[in-house]
Amino acid sequence: MPDTNLMPIAGHDDPVTTPRDVTPRADGRVDLVGLPQERIRELLEAAGLDVKQAKLRSKQIFHWLYHRGASEFAAMTDISKTMRPWMEERFVLGRPNIIEAQHSTDGTRKWLLQTDDGHDFEMVFIPDADRGTLCVSSQVGCTLNCTFCATGTMRLVRNLTPGEIVGQVMLARDALGEWPKGRMEGLDAAEDAGHYTSDGRLLTNIVMMGMGEPLYNFDNVRDALSLVMDGHGLALSKRRITLSTSGVVPMMARCGEEIGVNLAVSLHAVNKEVRDEIVPINRKYGLAELLQACADYPGASNSRRITFEYVMLRGKNDSDADAHELVRLIKQYDLPAKVNLIPFNPWPGSAYECSEPDRIASFSNIVFEGGISAPVRTPRGRDIDAACGQLKTSAEKKSRADRDREAAAAEAEASA
Ligand code: SAH
Ligand code: SF4
Repeated sequence: MPDTNLMPIAGHDDPVTTPRDVTPRADGRVDLVGLPQERIRELLEAAGLDVKQAKLRSKQIFHWLYHRGASEFAAMTDISKTMRPWMEERFVLGRPNIIEAQHSTDGTRKWLLQTDDGHDFEMVFIPDADRGTLCVSSQVGCTLNCTFCATGTMRLVRNLTPGEIVGQVMLARDALGEWPKGRMEGLDAAEDAGHYTSDGRLLTNIVMMGMGEPLYNFDNVRDALSLVMDGHGLALSKRRITLSTSGVVPMMARCGEEIGVNLAVSLHAVNKEVRDEIVPINRKYGLAELLQACADYPGASNSRRITFEYVMLRGKNDSDADAHELVRLIKQYDLPAKVNLIPFNPWPGSAYECSEPDRIASFSNIVFEGGISAPVRTPRGRDIDAACGQLKTSAEKKSRADRDREAAAAEAEASA
């Protein structure tokens, strides 16, 4: 069994992560997905190519892999036919394994995925009239235990590798048939390397809002997103990528500096008492520190606002007084902000109810009247459990059922 890099739930301590760029594979080959060009070059050299060849081939592989979406060496037409089997023996161009793909009546699609070492995670695609958003996971489970979130109840956590993170975006492009079709003339890919535009595309935006806390897996998320944003890679503009954090204050400045994507903050409450309860990381990094880090977020401006996510929990955080306090706080810190009101999605065993529609409307109006945009998010993909915070439940049920079946089959075999 390969090293699965599992972390027990670390309570409210920041988990210690083990940096690792490649998930070990049972067949000994190295998966190149998630690696930058320089690392691919090093691996080619270590496998025996001379310096010049390694440089040339790494550039070709990078282009085919991330810009054109090749999933096998056979597709790399400018690499000689004799060299392709040599590469196949040593390397793979993997995708996360698909356990199940579901399609909602509203067009939302959800994939239950699995790492090579057997951990389930999920990815959701949400099409809208003017955009298509892919909701990407950063961890299997989450070490933080927000009381309204199903992911927070998962027992085991492992950071996803850069390959498993960028692999989700690549898989979505596979499924949507959206890899650029351009030619690759020798190595001059200039006309091919333009930015991936939203014109006529389904997948236009990415949100790091799937399972996990992305700022607790900072290095891997940064490395994966740099491949997504690389003009010679997946070429998606940083303006179309949003990272959501529950408030890992010490990592927020680095997020702005080193990743540079839009920031969303899961605020959910406006005073210490309630936020301590529902977003327990608040006991470690309080509201004042969090809002100051938002005020200091590199790159935030009136044209690139910070999004405050606010889940509507009946009788908990949804009063008119809470709405007024939210406006006051945003003004006090002079934040270029918008608010996203998320109707709570109940899951089996959850202890909350969603606020009534007229309560949500009243809350939204007060924030709007304060001069801050506060739309109510429409829940999507409810029929396939794809809505916010539901990602884990069905996955875990499935995998447990699968495991039970496997165990029963193994037992039957052993006793036969
Ligand atoms: N861990 C990160 C990103 C993943 S959660 C974070 O907390 O920001 C993405 C968003 O979904 C967060 O705002 C989270 O609070 C919200 N969410 C989680 N469970 C939910 C539920 N049951 N109903 C509505 N929103 C939920
Ligand atoms: Fe983790 Fe975010 Fe869920 Fe909180 S809301 S438990 S930080 S995934």
